[in-house]
Amino acid sequence: MDDCIFCKILKKEIPSEIVYEDDDLIAFNDISPKAKTHILIVPRKHIDTIKDLKEDEADEELVGKMVLAARNIAKEKNLDGYQLLFNVGRSAGQIIFHIHLHLISNG
Ligand code: AMP
Ligand code: ZN
Repeated sequence: MDDCIFCKILKKEIPSEIVYEDDDLIAFNDISPKAKTHILIVPRKHIDTIKDLKEDEADEELVGKMVLAARNIAKEKNLDGYQLLFNVGRSAGQIIFHIHLHLISNG
């Protein structure tokens, strides 16, 4: 999507502090952290919201990979407890319409 800020980050057209990337997703520090650690896990595939996920193997696998990537990053950073959060829809506070999983922790 041409006007999507996270697609631009994925294409490295906008800089970000990348903490992990692979063939399916990228993870970078949130520009406005809500806690000591605040990382966004973002799939390379543009999907507007969780509502738009298809019930097919590809999207099931993608969401699973996002959760596992968050778990692995948390483990690598020795985080004890953390929150994993999807904001879904404008009324729930979603401002970027390219799905992303928030990894938030103070320890
Ligand atoms: P959400 O409210 O779930 O859509 O979350 C979007 C998140 O993206 C917010 O926490 C923003 O601080 C973050 N954000 C917006 N622009 C950038 C950017 N250029 N680099 C990193 N994080 C960003
Ligand atoms: Zn996008």
